[in-house]
Amino acid sequence: MRRLYQAQDEIEAQLLSDYLAASHIPTTVLGRYQSAAAGELSALAFPSVWVLEDRDLPRARVLLAEFLQRRQGPGGAAAWHCECGEQIGPEFDLCWRCGRSRPP
Ligand SMILES: [Zn+2]
Repeated sequence: MRRLYQAQDEIEAQLLSDYLAASHIPTTVLGRYQSAAAGELSALAFPSVWVLEDRDLPRARVLLAEFLQRRQGPGGAAAWHCECGEQIGPEFDLCWRCGRSRPP
């Protein structure tokens, strides 16, 4: 098991974990509850995403780069436009109006 990424918060860690799961890379999020347990904030308290299988790590790193690029995007939010005309937030892969997936 290898650590892939230290997230800023639990939500980001979970989003990344879900993103990798969609590409059939099993991961686990560690450190979720450490800050509460330790009673203080520290760098170690941030949740991190771990790749369970070492052989998945190179592919996971590529996906991580995509994930970060997609979230930050040029100018902050990289919203995309669905074929139906709806504008979708960068964190969504599916159109909430018609259900189409994000174009490649
Ligand atoms: Zn749509």
